[in-house]
Amino acid sequence: MSEFDFDLFVIGAGSGGVRASRIAASHGARVAVAEEYRVGGTCVIRGCVPKKMLVYGAHFAEDLHAAARFGWTLEGVRFDWKTLRDNVLADVDRLNGLYQQTLDGNKVTTFHERARISGPHEVTLASGRKVSAGTILIATGSWPMVPEVEGAEHGITSNEVFHLESLPKRVAIAGGGYIANEFAGIFNALGCDVTIVNRSDRILRGYDDQIVDRLKQLSEAKGITFRLDAPFERIEKAADGTITIHVKNGEPIECDLLVFAVGRKPMSFDLGLEEVGVALSDKGAVIVDEHSRTNIPSIHAVGDVTDRVQLTPVAIREGHAFADTVFGGTPRTVDYGCIPSAVFSNPPLAGVGLTEEEARRRLGEVKVYTSDFRPMKNALTGNPERSLYKMICDGATGRVVGVHMISPEAPEILQVVAVAVKAGLTKQQFDDTVALHPSMAEELVLLK
Ligand code: NDP
Repeated sequence: MSEFDFDLFVIGAGSGGVRASRIAASHGARVAVAEEYRVGGTCVIRGCVPKKMLVYGAHFAEDLHAAARFGWTLEGVRFDWKTLRDNVLADVDRLNGLYQQTLDGNKVTTFHERARISGPHEVTLASGRKVSAGTILIATGSWPMVPEVEGAEHGITSNEVFHLESLPKRVAIAGGGYIANEFAGIFNALGCDVTIVNRSDRILRGYDDQIVDRLKQLSEAKGITFRLDAPFERIEKAADGTITIHVKNGEPIECDLLVFAVGRKPMSFDLGLEEVGVALSDKGAVIVDEHSRTNIPSIHAVGDVTDRVQLTPVAIREGHAFADTVFGGTPRTVDYGCIPSAVFSNPPLAGVGLTEEEARRRLGEVKVYTSDFRPMKNALTGNPERSLYKMICDGATGRVVGVHMISPEAPEILQVVAVAVKAGLTKQQFDDTVALHPSMAEELVLLK
């Protein structure tokens, strides 16, 4: 019999924590997990999943408009935010239940309370109960940052945005990253007046410049305003609810709702990590080795709290590899190369591998192929929006080192392209594949 209450104690039942719990349990470990909020984590409860549902909801605005050109007569079309909001939240409840079932079905004990680490093999629950475990896994994720600026309390974050009582007339979104551009697309399609306010002149840092420029251009054409190079100075709220954002360069911005989307910080605070001596980076991320082990051998960490790559599928892989390594007798590491990613803006963009700029820096000689086309559907609807696909190849070998696209369905197409890029295929091998006509994806095998 083990000297510990559990073989594994997981703090945080998000994507990484639930996967690690389930896999460790399947390897025969006695597992417990503590979750202070709702099982499922940010992605399921207040992130990727409800966001994508809102993106679907918002898309109807353009689709219904286009329907007339396809012969449909629609009368009395109206949008009701509360119906969309409540249906999305109901689906979140359903998924929350499924995640709990997964834990229960794998005989994982769930403590619905906060846990702090009180020793290399001990956690203390909010109730005061102490629980011992052979291994502790920190999978607490990340938390939206709020800038330190006067009046910041007048803004909300992505945590609250799914629960709005009503849609604002004017919304300002602080930040120019994933969340800012995704919610700009949602609010704009639902009829709000949207302004993106970013401290630098660059949005979606890390994505290919040309693709990002196209998003900005298409967003502006839809009526989204960009106030770039505009760091916040202070925020005021008037008695009538109007929020005024004073920025360094230019006129103040007035809005009815301010959403902060300025990045997420690792949730490593108030977990007892400093007391136990777990090493943290300057940004507060838990420092781990390639097996997700901290400097304390019995304590591991996966997902956003380690600030390696803040994406759900990565946290899931890390949790799985950790469980296989520690409880399955199969040491595994995560391969961080060629991770595809997407921004569910309107239209969405997606990319895998090197951007053109990165490729030129790293490889020297590169060949770039682009296709700038109007999707067939847009021809009939009269929508002038054009899509852009970009393929970056190693000039010496012809190997495809990056694919970037902005287009309807770009994330769906890019997931498959990522297989080819990860496999190291060449442009010639793309060209050898017969096009599937008529489709948008065929552009990828017809690049000249
Ligand atoms: P991002 O990291 O994408 O972007 C942060 C933005 O905020 C940048 O424009 C940055 O500006 C700005 N910023 C950073 N710090 C400050 C500050 N102190 N004051 C003012 N502005 C600041 O963050 P998000 O919040 O949009 O998303 C968080 C993370 O969640 C993402 O990095 C991503 O990993 C994940 N996510 C993934 C999604 C997906 O896969 N589709 C969807 C949503 C989130 P600058 O660049 O000028 O420095």
